[in-house]
Amino acid sequence: MSNEYSDCEEQAASILSINVSSQQCEESKQSAAAVNLEEEPVGNVSKFVAYPQGSKEKLRKGYLMFHACFQSGNLGRVDCISDFEYDLFVRPDTCNPRYRVWFNFTVQNVHAGQKVIFNIVNFSKTKSLYRDGMSPLVKSTSRPKWQRIPAKNVFYYRSPDHHKNYVMSFAFAFDKESDVYQFSYCYPYTYNRLQTYLHEIEKKNLDYIKIERICLSVQQRNIDLLTITSPKNLLDTKKRVVFFTARVHPGETPSSYVCQGIIDFLVSSHPIAQVLRDHIVFMIVPMLNPDGVVLGNYRCSLMGFDLNRFWQEPSPWAHPSILATKQLLMDMNEDADIDLDFYIDLHAHSTAMNGFMYGNIYDEEDRFEDHSVYPRLLCSNAEDFSFTSSSFNKDAIKAGTGRRTLGSCLSEQSNCYTLEVSFFSYLSNTSTPQPYTEDAYLKLGRNVARTFLDYYKLNALVAQRLNFDILNYERMYDNRKISDSKQNIEKVESKTNRNVKKNSYTVAKKNVSIELCDAATPPVHKSQVLLRMKHRTSKN
Ligand SMILES: [Zn+2]
Repeated sequence: MSNEYSDCEEQAASILSINVSSQQCEESKQSAAAVNLEEEPVGNVSKFVAYPQGSKEKLRKGYLMFHACFQSGNLGRVDCISDFEYDLFVRPDTCNPRYRVWFNFTVQNVHAGQKVIFNIVNFSKTKSLYRDGMSPLVKSTSRPKWQRIPAKNVFYYRSPDHHKNYVMSFAFAFDKESDVYQFSYCYPYTYNRLQTYLHEIEKKNLDYIKIERICLSVQQRNIDLLTITSPKNLLDTKKRVVFFTARVHPGETPSSYVCQGIIDFLVSSHPIAQVLRDHIVFMIVPMLNPDGVVLGNYRCSLMGFDLNRFWQEPSPWAHPSILATKQLLMDMNEDADIDLDFYIDLHAHSTAMNGFMYGNIYDEEDRFEDHSVYPRLLCSNAEDFSFTSSSFNKDAIKAGTGRRTLGSCLSEQSNCYTLEVSFFSYLSNTSTPQPYTEDAYLKLGRNVARTFLDYYKLNALVAQRLNFDILNYERMYDNRKISDSKQNIEKVESKTNRNVKKNSYTVAKKNVSIELCDAATPPVHKSQVLLRMKHRTSKN
């Protein structure tokens, strides 16, 4: 594919290889393999053998070979200090040397039993969750599930040997000579993975989801938009819209898991998802910075821009995804038939625990009060989301962010937030930090989606929907099947792993009652109290 670049982009483009999207889709099918080796040379090491200093020997087992020329790969340089110790340099974001955080690379040609110390020596940040027990992730060809390296093997300190930089050192023992080992800052989530995921959803031909491309990135990658809603809603005169964006910061991979959790839930057959689709139009731009994601950047686009500082005046040539998304939002804001109720931008945080939100400050007390309702509700639904960690501000430094810019230019009813989730862990009720897994990030996404049920006070409709479904089932099959139906519903419940400790389904004649809220959780919303009372009184 040929790509035309303006003068300003040429320099950046010349160092990069640009892949064809369809080719990437094909390649992405292979990404399920333990190590994804699509070539993306952007100053990363490419099958680089770190010979011991002064060594004249030929390549032999134990001379580690480092590689990061693949999608979202990042490792810029390796210095072999001794047979046991290597200094590793994060490759700075393209065209912006200020950001050096994300790493993702493979190591092979290892000796069984070989013990090494890797020092990552050029982080651009000083504060880090490594101080709180975070550790790098590892997987290998024969063990393709990501695991955290034990925190006791990880050290974060100011190093006199490295210009007093903060260095993260970790000890690791290789055990299988034939394995390729991969180390990463956090769970990778590549552009190809997203494209494959969207393709799989498209193949289902569901009438309540539409996937379209709103523009192309500078490197001609898709900026996708998903619209999830019951088809009849699009014909209705009045529409309620909830809008999500993610991955404006390419290294913040947890935001993609949260985003996928939202999508998984909304396209599912879960009764709550059905009710949500019946009442709300969900629109999602899952990857605002695909070039940065492919390149293995932490924060910037191809040209070194932090795209989350350009919402005020996005440029068509440098920030096309921000321009297209903002235009879409502004058009909806002008449309009298659309209530654009929410804009939520998904991020990950490198120094804080939990999920939490940044919101805006409004002078009018009522508006400010309304603005805190959704985060409070989410806090009651998700054990890893903290309302107390959430903050509402109008810092000058954040003026160009989506949350701040849209918060000031959309109409009064629109609530604009940044949702952050820790790169590492959350404090659950037990007050022991729980490291996030991929599943835990997906679960937060599901809780983000289902909280709109509480916000829009749609809880009672879920019971009706269940009643309706079971009655239909009853008509179609004999009574013996009802228990199967109940089991099916319970299966869906446990599959989605909702954060509801008590789900009571009783099939007694034609009545189905459902308790949606954990009775132990203090109610935070008047509607919840009323609904709970209603559910309780309607039971038996
Ligand atoms: Zn961010």
